[in-house]
Amino acid sequence: MNTTSIPGCRSGTYVLVFHARGEHSVPIGRLGSLTTQPGYYLYVGSAFGPGGLAARIARHLTPSARRHWHIDHLKTVLTPAETVYSHDPGHLEHEWAQALSRVPELSIALPHFGASDCRCASHLWFAATRTEVERAKHTLASVSKHFETRNAATMARVPMETGDAPRDYQSHPDSR
Ligand SMILES: [Zn+2]
Repeated sequence: MNTTSIPGCRSGTYVLVFHARGEHSVPIGRLGSLTTQPGYYLYVGSAFGPGGLAARIARHLTPSARRHWHIDHLKTVLTPAETVYSHDPGHLEHEWAQALSRVPELSIALPHFGASDCRCASHLWFAATRTEVERAKHTLASVSKHFETRNAATMARVPMETGDAPRDYQSHPDSR
């Protein structure tokens, strides 16, 4: 089965689900430190620039020396577990972040993470168990028309597209 065939330049919104095995204290730029707990971290973002979702997700799921996004600091101690995404042309990232805020089993991992320039409490949420991740996905599905999930390991092999220069999608909304 070819699970890497997300059409190269299609844009959309994603949630990266990472697994944390233990406690690691990680400095996250100006936000201070996040001490990870065993469980799952759900990171909400979107990619509406060149390269689309595939390039952005591959970028987030592979190690990189560059620290451009908040998630770049954190992913060194997390293991990708799953990717949830939608090719809906609407920018759903804030809607999704706020939907996650309504899942009682989830908690804010770090205030303002990935949400420097929006009104969401955070774009990074913590779920203690896999069951809670499933509840979160269920909630996202309820607010989204198009919704897919992939194993993160296959998403990391999506080839990088050229032209996916780092962009701050929150400060400079990508044009479509
Ligand atoms: Zn937001």
